[in-house]
Amino acid sequence: MSPESVRIGTGIDVHPFCEGRDLVLGGEKIPYPRGLAGHSDADVLLHAISDALLGAAGLGDIGLHFPDSDPSNKDRSSLDILESVTALIAEAGFRASHVDSCIIAEKPKLSPHYPAMQRNIARCVGLDPGRVGVKATTAEGLGFTGREEGIAAQAVCLIVPVPARSGT
Ligand code: MG
Repeated sequence: MSPESVRIGTGIDVHPFCEGRDLVLGGEKIPYPRGLAGHSDADVLLHAISDALLGAAGLGDIGLHFPDSDPSNKDRSSLDILESVTALIAEAGFRASHVDSCIIAEKPKLSPHYPAMQRNIARCVGLDPGRVGVKATTAEGLGFTGREEGIAAQAVCLIVPVPARSGT
């Protein structure tokens, strides 16, 4: 595989806190008094990863493929979205090779949930959990995440071409 055939993509997402919803991050329901507002389950981490994969494949973003205007995306699990994104990049001739990500949140403490999030993401994108990075940081009280108004996430994904099967 030539180095030129490896592609990279980045993704960033932000969702505001709201009352009356579960907090879902990396496909895990995190015990916390507030959730995130959004059309789907508002899993900001999986949205950032989805955008990074789509970007690497040159396929636009999740707003293009899973628009808010489509009622079927209402409260949709973002694990389902990430699986669909994996299928889209496979149709384009790629598979994920590595994922790294970071959640920016003042609260709650997320490190106990990293392994489960890594497993969820790995399953959706077809990778070993050892090739999926999940981390979190606070913003030291600064900005909208520091004021606990919402959560942000960013991701970077490496994708590689899937060798074409030799047909007969
Ligand atoms: Mg989003």
